[in-house]
Amino acid sequence: MKYYSTNKQAPEATLEKAVVKGLAEDKGLYMPETIKALPKEFFDNIEKMSFQEIAYTVADAFFGEDVEADALKKIVYDTLAFDCPVVPVTDNIYALELFHGPTLAFKDVGARFMARLLQYFLKKEGEGNQVNVLVATSGDTGSAVANGFLGVEGIHVYVLYPKGKVSPIQECQFTTLGKNITAIEVDGVFDDCQALVKAAFMDEELNAHMKLTSANSINVARFLPQSFYYFNAYARMKALGKADELVMCVPSGNFGNICSALFGHRMGLPIKRFIAANNANDIFYNYLQTGEYHPQPSKATLANAMDVGDPSNFARIYDLYKGDHKTITSLISGATYKDERIRETMQECFAETKYVLDPHGACGYQALKEQLKPGEVGVFCETAHPAKFKEKVDEILSTDIEIPQRLQEFMKGTKQSIEMSKDFADFKNFLLNE
Ligand SMILES: *Cc1c(COP(=O)(O)O)cnc(C)c1O
Repeated sequence: MKYYSTNKQAPEATLEKAVVKGLAEDKGLYMPETIKALPKEFFDNIEKMSFQEIAYTVADAFFGEDVEADALKKIVYDTLAFDCPVVPVTDNIYALELFHGPTLAFKDVGARFMARLLQYFLKKEGEGNQVNVLVATSGDTGSAVANGFLGVEGIHVYVLYPKGKVSPIQECQFTTLGKNITAIEVDGVFDDCQALVKAAFMDEELNAHMKLTSANSINVARFLPQSFYYFNAYARMKALGKADELVMCVPSGNFGNICSALFGHRMGLPIKRFIAANNANDIFYNYLQTGEYHPQPSKATLANAMDVGDPSNFARIYDLYKGDHKTITSLISGATYKDERIRETMQECFAETKYVLDPHGACGYQALKEQLKPGEVGVFCETAHPAKFKEKVDEILSTDIEIPQRLQEFMKGTKQSIEMSKDFADFKNFLLNE
């Protein structure tokens, strides 16, 4: 399969190049040149298949030309070592719980898949080909990537994070791992970390010294596998007899997650329509209303993993529908919620159903409450476990929610990190001596 850039100014790439490079030369996002429709028989029998079987069928449509069947199957099964169940919250609203992976957020799926696919390509190239992944994080991405790549041979990960700006729960998920994961505590803010990573990719001397790659969320190997759990959600809802008029609601920030659902839809997944739920960062919402896309500086909110003022994957959605606003609005509607409304939703949902929403999932739940029509059944993504935001959640709900065992394990470990200034010369010097 060839991958083209959404900016159309870069040469087409192989899957390997798209995965190793991440972003195209013209700064566009890679798109597969064909999105194969899956046969009717697959959907007719999907409810009888396991999550892993479904995922492999979907993975084969994307990656089957480029990865041998046995290897691809192993990558898929290893990635999905945990479930993504659909759980009832009300009669007609279900939560697609994406937080049962190692770092309790949906990014585990893409990060684990990418780590294994990258390793597959390295092995093909031969021994001794160490690759170094650089990732800047404000919290969640670093933990998913570090854990996804933990112990994967031939790959070393450097996680750059802003000193004192990451919650202790988040920090321990990438500073206590050791092995092939190095945490770098930068004396600066997230943007400084991002700038160091970008400068490293541009530096010729450094690139001659070591093979560098990125694992950010625009990578095709991180975003395409997210479609697996939408197919599985449909299968589980179909088994309940509730899939005839299914509405999928995705709390969105950079729009990678909803984009993978839309790819599923293009492959024939029978979802009636989609809702993109935003916090106060309402750029996409405004695009739906006006047809105009105006990036804004991001606003800090309670649902901070969705604080994005210029969602990267908008380019993919735009490309998928050839920029046709009418098609996009006929399939996707929007919603935007301020912190106050997110709080109220968490409280109302807890009082009415006992279900504990995290602030991101709350946006999704609220949008379904407001927008579901008679006869429709809604599924929203619970994108992270509420315990990841324990302090906020407990304060809002007056609870003392339990921290899952696997999160507690991280908290027991000892922190190991390297202190770094925000000066690129220091970072470069450090890497040159690695
Ligand atoms: C990353 C993230 C999101 C946003 O997902 P996008 O793919 O960027 O739209 C939502 N919720 C949580 C908990 C996240 O970590």
